Amino acid sequence: MRVLFVTPEIYPLMKIGGLGDVCHSLPTAMRAIGLDVRVLIPGYPRVLALPDIQSTGIQLTLEKHLVADILTALLPDSNVPLYIIDCPDLYRRAGTAYHDTDGNEWPDNALRFAYLSKAAALLALNGLDFVPDIIHCNDWTTGLVGAFLYQLQPTHSIKLMMSIHNLAHQGLYPSALIEELDLSWTHFTIEGYEYNGLLSFMKAGLFYADWITTVSPTYAKEICTERYGHGLQGVLQQKTAITTGILNGIDLNVWNPEIDPHIKQNYNTFNLNKKQRNKKILQKQWSMTVDENIPMLAVISRLVHQKGLDLILDIAADILHEGAQLVFLGIGEAELEQRLRQLQKQHPKSVGLTLAHDEALAHQIEAGADIFLMPSRFEPCGLNQLYSMHYGTLPLVRKTGGLADSVIDTTPAHLNDKTATGFVFAEEDPQQLLHCIQRALLVYRDKKTWRKIQKTAMDKEVSWENSAEQYIQCYRQCLAEE
Ligand code: ADP
Repeated sequence: MRVLFVTPEIYPLMKIGGLGDVCHSLPTAMRAIGLDVRVLIPGYPRVLALPDIQSTGIQLTLEKHLVADILTALLPDSNVPLYIIDCPDLYRRAGTAYHDTDGNEWPDNALRFAYLSKAAALLALNGLDFVPDIIHCNDWTTGLVGAFLYQLQPTHSIKLMMSIHNLAHQGLYPSALIEELDLSWTHFTIEGYEYNGLLSFMKAGLFYADWITTVSPTYAKEICTERYGHGLQGVLQQKTAITTGILNGIDLNVWNPEIDPHIKQNYNTFNLNKKQRNKKILQKQWSMTVDENIPMLAVISRLVHQKGLDLILDIAADILHEGAQLVFLGIGEAELEQRLRQLQKQHPKSVGLTLAHDEALAHQIEAGADIFLMPSRFEPCGLNQLYSMHYGTLPLVRKTGGLADSVIDTTPAHLNDKTATGFVFAEEDPQQLLHCIQRALLVYRDKKTWRKIQKTAMDKEVSWENSAEQYIQCYRQCLAEE
């Protein structure tokens, strides 16, 4: 079985959120099991700077005057082969995969990602020395692969897997793009890739998919409802027979307090008291009150509505009043950044704030904090609660998507059967969040119980191996579907 895995993000070369982590870990884990999986990514500057990069000699004509060279290299810290689309006009730019250095979306994102999809189709049909049985697409940016395969060779036999990492982003563009890309109008219908008169990249991905995955079983169910379906619930309801929810794992070579090179004090379940030193380092770094007994509540997140940070901000004064400290690492919406700045200014001794993307600091916070807050409005999987559990930083989450599937609430029953790994609340309501935090702080003060929960959380099985097996099972089902 040969799989071409297509993604706009891949850690450590281009990571904006969890997608980057998953697209590193999943192919790596599948390759470790013996699957021939190779990854196709755009040639961003950091990708092109890989030391072992080589030409494949393959050139793809994306459109009349747009030619891409296909280069190859190995994914760092992995043995996954990369195919790299070197097309300077599209991808050789400073900034992120989606934004310029000022945070504005690239105006030509529709074309940049349409051509990522087209490159996958061209390569799979006649460019590669390895012909994939399956193309595994990830989110809207890769949604047009099926449409291009159909355009180039309507009778092709390549199977398509579409993974939904976040349904909120769908890639909706004017239908004129169909003309520009020379795609078929036949499928520009409500059953196909039309969405309220627009071309939907995500819907195209779902339309052509032989199998669909989402990143948690609960999210797989949620997206079939109006509340979480972002308008595509009808389409997804019809596809439940070919949809599987698979919870993400974590890369234990990257996220592991025992060997993490980013943290000053490594630790494990047997010497958990050492974890406190990491907290003191953070407190000093942010000029906060240094005291290892003060509970530290942390957030590492894209600062967007989805993540429910406004709920935390609404009750921040109450949280601080409980004698806790709050620390934030994030970047995103101007209004949230402004509210966070204001909070930090008002409470410099109990609030730590870094408005940036900082991979090392993310690890240091996971190691230093006591509680990790994720009051997300929706959360397809979420990775930080998994990292947090593994670092003995108990997650406090809203019961949605992958958070509901991975965190077990500290109730008397779950304490009794030793399964509790964190704290869970139900609705997107600041008061519910506050009550949950108060509940967690009460347990925090009972050191013996806290330590027990930390150990359960740290010992929880979160490696990628199990999830990778489930993906391979879906590939098999995908190939069996005729
Ligand atoms: P999402 O993919 O929706 O952003 P996830 O919880 O799945 O949410 O993954 C977020 C990933 O991005 C985690 O690895 C997290 O540590 C990382 N991350 C988010 N914001 C930052 C930041 N400002 N600095 C460093 N890492 C960040």
